[in-house]
Amino acid sequence: MRLLGKERSSETQGPGRVQVDGVDCYYLQTQALNSAYLTVQPGEVIGLVGPNGSGKTTLLKAISGVLRPQVGIITLDDVDVYRIKPKRLAQQMAVVPQSTDTFFFDFTVEEVVLMGRSPHINFLGTESTHDFDVVQKALEMTDVARFADRKINELSGGEQQRVIIARALAQEPKILLLDEATSQLDIGIKIEIFDLVRRLAASGIAVIAAIHDLNLAAQYCDRLLLLKRGEIIADGTVEEVLTQEHIAEAFGVSAFVRKHPITNAFSITLLPRHTPGERSSAKVHVIPGGGKGAPVIHALVQRGLSVSAGVVNTLDTDYEVAQYFSIECAVEAPFSPISSEVHSRNLQLIQEAAIVVLPNICFGPANLKNLEAAELAADKLVIVEETPIESRDFTHGVAQRIYGDLRSNSPVFAELTTLLAYVESHIG
Ligand code: ADP
Repeated sequence: MRLLGKERSSETQGPGRVQVDGVDCYYLQTQALNSAYLTVQPGEVIGLVGPNGSGKTTLLKAISGVLRPQVGIITLDDVDVYRIKPKRLAQQMAVVPQSTDTFFFDFTVEEVVLMGRSPHINFLGTESTHDFDVVQKALEMTDVARFADRKINELSGGEQQRVIIARALAQEPKILLLDEATSQLDIGIKIEIFDLVRRLAASGIAVIAAIHDLNLAAQYCDRLLLLKRGEIIADGTVEEVLTQEHIAEAFGVSAFVRKHPITNAFSITLLPRHTPGERSSAKVHVIPGGGKGAPVIHALVQRGLSVSAGVVNTLDTDYEVAQYFSIECAVEAPFSPISSEVHSRNLQLIQEAAIVVLPNICFGPANLKNLEAAELAADKLVIVEETPIESRDFTHGVAQRIYGDLRSNSPVFAELTTLLAYVESHIG
């Protein structure tokens, strides 16, 4: 009795708050984690992102009581995780590893999920009706109930992984640790599992997930930790962590980050490297509009050409891309007609350009001046025409008339690639 009482007093019964406080971890002499700090509250979804070998798994191992830190402390509801008995810890915390281990080979799906109940089962080892109810619920939540009687080794990798997640849920944890748990799964199942993760979080479970896919992390996590070589180099909201600078620092790649138009989550597009400062002296000016300028600007910058753009409205994707590549721009306020001042600036940029590119954009009263600017100031205009101007003219024929004049004196290309080859050969 005394022993049981002592165990209870030193172990956690709280809501499931994890604190990682100044933790260093080593594998023999090799340091894998350096001075890690993290606080996770019930209901939060924390994503661990970073390149391979940056320490994500190590941090999860340390939190789950598997790899004792050399320095620092990890607590669950203010109790040192390494002072909590493994069975008691397993009642609070469940881990879903990267891939399914084969040691479950001969068990049925239901048996594997029932194993998740073992931390809750009494010393006689008999399962109660409640245990079977929890297992059934876990099978249903992960959509594997229909496989309940099948051997786990007869399922696909994705189905097996869902069974392992069901097993973790059967533990009824307060904290769920996912180590790249969906990286082997197809995108539909990834989304299903992370939707489930959000529902679990809404019910008060704290989730800490190492996630390879930055877009998935951006879409589903409340907060992110970005690791590089064992150090947490950024910790905060998705917006604070997944900046172009941080992604370049951690992964050594260029990325374009913007809010996705459908999900409103931050969306990350990885780009081929470009080297600022190696651009040509001859300029190419792009007339942007409705996102049609963005791929042209990107392609020209990739080819080392010096690019300008205008007039572009500040809420347009073309503006974001122009900003990303730090190119000169004539910029107008969102949804505003082009003012005479900005028009003059655009005329100046067009005059300075050896070639002006007119992509397949639409014309309305607000941007008609861009077409007039091309007519007035472009020395050499090249046109991308994917659809007839009639379908893109919202100016009662004014744009069509100007466009028609320009078209009769300019090379016209049906696609961007041939236009780019032309521009390159003319600029050299
Ligand atoms: P991540 O999960 O971000 O890919 P890990 O936490 O697995 O990174 O690894 C962090 C570092 O620790 C890496 O340099 C890796 O080589 C090293 N490491 C991981 N596991 C072991 C191990 N069992 N023994 C020795 N070194 C290890």
